[in-house]
Amino acid sequence: MAFIAGLDIGGTKIAGAVFDERYNEIAQIVAPTPSDYGSFLKTCVNIVEQLDQKCGQKASLGVGVPGSIDQKAGTIPFAANTPALSGQPLRDDLAKALNRSVRLANDADCAALSEATDGAGAGYQTVFGLIMGTGVGGGFVVKGQIVEGPNGLTGEFGHIALPFREVSDGPVVTCSCGQTGCIDKSVSGLALARLYKMMTNKEADAFEIDTLARRGDVEAIRVLDSFYTTVAKAMRAVIYTFDPEVIVVCGGLSGLPGLYKEVTERWGKYIVGKNPKTQFVPAKYGAMSGLRGAAWVGKST
Ligand SMILES: [Zn+2]
Repeated sequence: MAFIAGLDIGGTKIAGAVFDERYNEIAQIVAPTPSDYGSFLKTCVNIVEQLDQKCGQKASLGVGVPGSIDQKAGTIPFAANTPALSGQPLRDDLAKALNRSVRLANDADCAALSEATDGAGAGYQTVFGLIMGTGVGGGFVVKGQIVEGPNGLTGEFGHIALPFREVSDGPVVTCSCGQTGCIDKSVSGLALARLYKMMTNKEADAFEIDTLARRGDVEAIRVLDSFYTTVAKAMRAVIYTFDPEVIVVCGGLSGLPGLYKEVTERWGKYIVGKNPKTQFVPAKYGAMSGLRGAAWVGKST
């Protein structure tokens, strides 16, 4: 049996796991993300060697990384959460140290691929993996293949301006991409907290707001009502651009219980036909989607 391993690189931790061909997890290892490139490579190599030991062979390897990828060079030109990786020959360095071919993929693309393969998007031809966490992004999978695009930007709808912006969508904030009014700054967890602050002059994070709303707190209910409308507007950008059969929501906010019903009740107002056939569902594998997808990416190397 062949085994497939994946690494999911985050700003604070590196997670690695190895799976068998039937997608069963054999082992998982997590380590803090070092801040310098040399230590980072050593940590990755160490994790993969341990995973090899667990499965008894040299597993294929895929690596999910934050940021867009230059596949020709095997680099991440700009890695916002892991600056030490920016511009480094990551793919070739890992391949050399681990003596196997390595494939890099954007972490949102990995999550989308995982969900399209055997998650909430299984059985659909076109799957949009929507990442809603501290930031907003996405990946597009067609017939089981990630669509990357020449700039590695497919699915990065978070940097399109929010359609039909109103005051109730919250403060207009300058984005890491240099523009203002990006979707990323309107429908992320941080955006929900900013909206709460704007509407109530109090501080709470996304899950505190949700808990308050479920206890019947009128202010929190009003804030969430406004937030779900903003998410519905943002989905216009996804549906008009990709028109996927299913949008699978990954990331921290995928756990907001009201999200699915509330957004699909609202999005008809912003989308022609008034009743989109697109499904809007939570990820099956939650926080594991990115790691699983990284391993599937490596499978094809
Ligand atoms: Zn932006």
